[in-house]
Amino acid sequence: MLEIKNIHKSFGKNEILKGVDLKIDKGDVVVILGPSGSGKTTLLRCINFLERADQGTASFGELNVDLKTASKKDILAIRKKTAFVFQNYNLFNNKTALENVAEGLIIGRKIPKAEAYEISKKALDKVGLSEKYDSYPSQLSGGQQQRVGIARAVALNPDIILFDEPTSALDPELVGEVLQVMKDIAKEGTTMLVVTHEMGFAKDVANKVIFMDGGNIVEEGTPHEIFVTPKEERTQRFLRRVL
Ligand code: ATP
Repeated sequence: MLEIKNIHKSFGKNEILKGVDLKIDKGDVVVILGPSGSGKTTLLRCINFLERADQGTASFGELNVDLKTASKKDILAIRKKTAFVFQNYNLFNNKTALENVAEGLIIGRKIPKAEAYEISKKALDKVGLSEKYDSYPSQLSGGQQQRVGIARAVALNPDIILFDEPTSALDPELVGEVLQVMKDIAKEGTTMLVVTHEMGFAKDVANKVIFMDGGNIVEEGTPHEIFVTPKEERTQRFLRRVL
C-alpha cells in the first residue's frame, strides 16, 4: 500500500536518514523503535512532507512521488492519504475539541460544515470524548488532548495514520488511555505507522517492528523476532537497555 525507497535527509552536515526503505501493507501496525536521535521522527515527517527529503520516493497505490521534487499537487495527494498525530497534540487552543476535529474536514477536504461536525462527533465518540465536544484544549487533560488529536486523524479516514511519539509528552498515568485508544483503532484494521518508546504497545499491538539506529533500519521483523530472537548486536544492546 505504501512503499518508501531510499530516503535520505540531512540537516546541515548531519546526515539523519541514510537511505531508508519501508513497505507497509493495508492493515499493518508498524512500530519504529530506536535510540534518541536515530531519525525515527524525521522519517515520519519526510513521508508527510513536514520535512522535505533530499532523496527518495514514495509509492502509494497508483501514486508515485519523488520526495525531493514533489509538486504541490503531489504533496496534497499524499496528505489526503495520510494523517499525522503529533507528540504535543498540535491543537488550536482557541477552538473546541469538535472544532479542532472538524477543521481539517471543512478546510482541507471541503466537506460541508454540518456533515463535518457529524463525522467529527463520531470520531470523538470513538476515542471516548462524547462529553467533551465543547471543551477547549486548556480544559482537557493531556491524555484527552491527545485523544482529540487521534480523533482528528481518524475523522479524515486516511489510508494510514502516522503517530509521532504520541505518548511522550504525557504524565505516566495518562499514557494508558491513549495507548488503549490506539489499540482500539488498530483492532478495527486501521493502518498505522507508530514511532514510540512504548515497548508494551510494540509487543502487543504491532504486527511488524522496525529497529532504527544511526539513520538506518538495522533490523525488522515480527514482535517475536525483534524482542525474543533479535539477530543484530545493535538491536540486542538497545533492548537490554530499555527492557
Ligand atoms: P527521539 O526519540 O529523541 O525523538 P528520533 O529518532 O525521533 O529521536 P529525530 O527527531 O528524527 O530522532 O532527530 C534525529 C536528529 O536530527 C537529531 O539529532 C535532531 O537533533 C536532528 N534534527 C531533527 N530535526 C531537525 C531540524 N529541523 N534541524 C536540525 N536538526 C534536526
